[in-house]
Amino acid sequence: MPEPTDRASLGALLASLRDDAVSRRDALQQAAVDLRRDRGAETADDEHDPEGVTLSMEWERIEGLRIAAERDLAEINEAVARWDAGDYGRCEGCGRSIPIERLWARPTARRCVPCAEKVGG
Ligand SMILES: [Zn+2]
Repeated sequence: MPEPTDRASLGALLASLRDDAVSRRDALQQAAVDLRRDRGAETADDEHDPEGVTLSMEWERIEGLRIAAERDLAEINEAVARWDAGDYGRCEGCGRSIPIERLWARPTARRCVPCAEKVGG
């Protein structure tokens, strides 16, 4: 497949990844809001109430997922910004083009494999 087509498809892939990340983040934010409301109704006896403990654990789980989703979204937004600036796919380490196969496998990659290994990811 000629490279321009590949790159154009990568742009579409980034856009759809961003849509996914936004809806995942929004869903988790909503879940956090709902849970805070549920928990708020029973804060009085959190420590002694088995359900309060369950809600705390659920809260931590959702917060963890939400933070991960925010981080994914930030990475994708950076990739989209590089795309818009015309810098997408250029390695930050050595300045060479990141192989298209790597970008397909990891669209938010900022470095080629050898450079990524040097900095540990
Ligand atoms: Zn490199």
